[in-house]
Amino acid sequence: MFYLKHKGTRLEIGEDNVYTTCPKCGKEHKVDICDILGGGDADLYGTNVYCHECSVKRDDEVSTR
Ligand SMILES: [Zn+2]
Repeated sequence: MFYLKHKGTRLEIGEDNVYTTCPKCGKEHKVDICDILGGGDADLYGTNVYCHECSVKRDDEVSTR
């Protein structure tokens, strides 16, 4: 398992306490770290995760092209 350390305090990384900001709208949202790590080429700095709304819009844009 992985955990964070903040001033000596251990913060466990769980399925429900990892957040990111959407690269499109800037909204903070929860991510499933298991999904990201399970993607094969996990890059915790370079991975952008769109929020639900933006990923839906993105899918629409792609499918209407
Ligand atoms: Zn968004």
